Amino acid sequence: MPAMRYEESPQTSAEYLRLTLPMIAEHHLGANPINYAVLYEYVSGNNPDLKSAIDKQLGSGSKLDSEISEQLFKSHVMPANASRLEKLQNDILAIVQSLEVSVSEADQEASRFGESLSECGEKIQSDPVSVASMVQELIKHTEAMQSSNTKLQAALDHHAQEAKALREQLQSARREAVTDALTGLLNRSGFDAAVDDILSDAGEDDHRSCLVMLDIDRFKRVNDTYGHLFGDRVIKLVAEVLRKTVKGKDAAARFGGEEFVVLLPDTPVAGALSVAENIRKAIERARIWRANGGETIDNLTLSAGVAQMREGESIQELLERADQALYKSKEGGRNRVTSAEPV
Ligand code: GH3
Ligand code: MG
Ligand code: MG
Repeated sequence: MPAMRYEESPQTSAEYLRLTLPMIAEHHLGANPINYAVLYEYVSGNNPDLKSAIDKQLGSGSKLDSEISEQLFKSHVMPANASRLEKLQNDILAIVQSLEVSVSEADQEASRFGESLSECGEKIQSDPVSVASMVQELIKHTEAMQSSNTKLQAALDHHAQEAKALREQLQSARREAVTDALTGLLNRSGFDAAVDDILSDAGEDDHRSCLVMLDIDRFKRVNDTYGHLFGDRVIKLVAEVLRKTVKGKDAAARFGGEEFVVLLPDTPVAGALSVAENIRKAIERARIWRANGGETIDNLTLSAGVAQMREGESIQELLERADQALYKSKEGGRNRVTSAEPV
């Protein structure tokens, strides 16, 4: 079982609550969970990096605002995985250190063995009569050496197993850190990492990459009408369609609540438009059964915006242009795909 994030007693946490509220008021922040989590961890002092980031901000005479708070949340509160990775790193270090001890003990035993061999050699030359007692002595040292080797072997086996288990934990922690829990698609940081990979591979041909941004239409109404759990199933359905549509080196991510992006490396605008259109049609055609009542919902739609990376353009700029195209799709009546590029 991983350690709990907040282990303080109810009394202590109530004390932190009491300390947090004046700060929320002082900085005119909304008392929402993000601001509260940031300031809670600040006053508790359990998150040193967050604390020094806030102290630096306040020290420079600036106030906190909700944008800064959200950034701090993303960089210092959300990555609970980071501390898990740090613990894994320490565990691995401990294994290596304890192996060093085992190896150096075996090494000392081997050199004692070597010394006793050469001592015996010298004695044989000066006193050939005491060979029997020397042999006894040698047997004793050989046994000590064997037992030390056996211990080393056991230590090596044990540590190899531990290292294997740690490697598996590390892999799954890495995977979780880049995966959106609801859909299994990449999350935002996973998308950022995939973009770095894709673009560094593409090199000079970056500008042939296209980006599709998608947003479920009137999703608030879906939630309000059928409930959040149904809403979550709609999000999963869209994710499933994206997974089936994208291939190879494409990266599909859930970008926010009901917003998705797909990066298509080395793809002409026409290709990206047809990918977006296929996704749009698949959702338009989809029917989802409601859990109770047996009724099917078949009026789900989404809108999309497509942009192609220009030479020298950053991924941020590309995202922005795709977002503007998406906005045009919404304005134009939803359930459509708009290109940011001239036809
Ligand atoms: P538009 O067609 O303009 O996109 O309208 P919309 O209602 O989809 O857009 P809006 O941004 O107003 O609402 C998005 C809603 O998505 C609000 C929020 O409650 C809901 N939402 C965000 N994340 C989740 C989630 O993980 N699950 C569920 N069920 N709903 C979510
Ligand atoms: Mg939205
Ligand atoms: Mg929407």
